[in-house]
Amino acid sequence: MKKIAVFPGSFDPITIGHVDLVKRYLPLFDEIIVAVGVNSQKTSLFDLKQRLEWLELVFDHEPKVRIDFFEGLTAHYCQKVEARYLLRGLRNASDFDYEKTISQLNHIVGHNLETVFLISQPAYSHISSTIVREIIKGGGDASPFLPNQIKLVHQ
Ligand code: ADP
Repeated sequence: MKKIAVFPGSFDPITIGHVDLVKRYLPLFDEIIVAVGVNSQKTSLFDLKQRLEWLELVFDHEPKVRIDFFEGLTAHYCQKVEARYLLRGLRNASDFDYEKTISQLNHIVGHNLETVFLISQPAYSHISSTIVREIIKGGGDASPFLPNQIKLVHQ
C-alpha cells in the first residue's frame, strides 16, 4: 500500500524551515502532499494563488511531492486523498503543546490518522511564517528565510 502523507499549513509564505522539513520526510513516504489549509476566517498576507504558485515552484523537482489545497477539517482532507499520515514540525515547547492536542483529536476524527513529528534543525528553529510576514510588512529583507525560488517584488 502506497504510503501517503499530508503536510498541511498556511504557508503564508513557505519558508526554508518548511522546505527542510519536507526534504527530511521524503525518504519515509511514497508521496507527500503539501496542502494549503484555507481558512476563510483568517486573513493571509499572500493570496491562495500566490502561495500555491510558490509551492509548485519550490517542489518542482521533487516527483514525490504534490501541491494541493483544502477547506474544512484536515482529517477529512486526509481521508479524501487516502493519506494515513499527517506531517508537522516542532520548533519549541509551545509548538509541542499545541500540536499534541491537535494530533490526539485528529487520531479520533481521522479514524487512526497518525501525526508524525520531526523536530526542526537548530538552524531553522527560529523561523516562522509569522516572523517572515512581520519583516515583509515592516519593509525588511526576508530573503534569508525564503527558498531561493521566491523573489519578492519589493526586495
Ligand atoms: P500553521 O498555520 O498550521 O501553523 P505553518 O505554515 O505555519 O502552518 O506551518 C506548517 C507546519 O510547519 C507546522 O507544523 C509548523 O510547526 C511547521 N514549521 C513551520 N516553520 C518551521 C520551522 N522553521 N522548522 C520546523 N517546522 C516548521
